[in-house]
Amino acid sequence: EAKTSGRNAVRFFDPAMQTLIESRAVIEADLREDIAQKNFLLYYQPQVDDDGRLIGAEALTRWPRAVQKPPSPDEFISVAENSGLIIPLGEGVLETACSQMAVWANDPALAGLTIAVNVSGLQLHHPSFVDRVRETIEATGANPNLLKLEVTESFEISNIEEVIAKMTALRKLGIRFSLDDFGTGYSSLSYLKRLPIDQLKIDKSFVRDVMSNPNDAAIAETIIALGDTLGLSVIAEGVETEAQRAFLAARGCRVYQGYLFARPMPAKQFAQFATLFSRTKPANETPRLSRREA
Ligand code: C2E
Ligand code: MG
Ligand code: MG
Ligand code: MG
Repeated sequence: EAKTSGRNAVRFFDPAMQTLIESRAVIEADLREDIAQKNFLLYYQPQVDDDGRLIGAEALTRWPRAVQKPPSPDEFISVAENSGLIIPLGEGVLETACSQMAVWANDPALAGLTIAVNVSGLQLHHPSFVDRVRETIEATGANPNLLKLEVTESFEISNIEEVIAKMTALRKLGIRFSLDDFGTGYSSLSYLKRLPIDQLKIDKSFVRDVMSNPNDAAIAETIIALGDTLGLSVIAEGVETEAQRAFLAARGCRVYQGYLFARPMPAKQFAQFATLFSRTKPANETPRLSRREA
């Protein structure tokens, strides 16, 4: 069939392509409407240290789309980035996370936890990003020392000096930076040295087969060593088994996030999770997260 249509055939109508285009347009329209109405939720996924202590959470956006099946976060974030909607969506996310942090500051089980918020490269390039973050922190009363911004390694930096200046300004407020999905992008080492970041986040694609794939193991090991050399903390995402955690720990990884500990959950449930955890810790011992039951 492909042969008979010939190499000069011009296909005006590709049903699969048409569906893709339509669904993107529909998603974009629905996104726009739901952003205006603030119909988004944040879920929180625990981050755990070497001693099994709960040290924070990553805020992950969920779209409880009313009429149609919601696309995955990877899909709708990509639509938001391509349409510019990531700017208002990202502002809403930051506002929600900071308001939540201010509430949690009054609860001993939650008060010291670091909350990580994903930030798109487009947000970082937006001229008023630093001001908006500062205003959001002031308006909500969130503690900036407990706020971490996750920026993906693959984001395109069109002006490195500008990005460095913005990150430096935010770090002066106490905010920290984590380089998300590390290993999947293309940052050079000199570039990495210049960005004022605090943490590297090993992408889950390397963690998944770290036990069975020597290349993935070598990459994970190299990232951990790199973090060590540059004085950055290293967190592994997508940790699903105790074997993966132990493997990474043996190579010097100190912080983890993944289904082994808990899936992302609504704020209320996360608060219960943290409270239960802080209550059940042994009196004179390092509190330890029950990995299987979490
Ligand atoms: P990410 O920032 O790398 O977040 C980690 C993703 O891995 C999340 O997917 C999380 O649910 C998932 N994950 C966590 N532990 C495990 C595990 O053990 N196994 C597996 N297989 N997956 C695990 P999620 O929530 O679907 O989000 C996907 C991506 O969407 C995020 O990747 C992030 O890039 C983007 N995203 C989500 N919320 C936001 C947001 O508010 N702003 C921006 N800019 N991006 C966001
Ligand atoms: Mg992230
Ligand atoms: Mg990631
Ligand atoms: Mg990702």
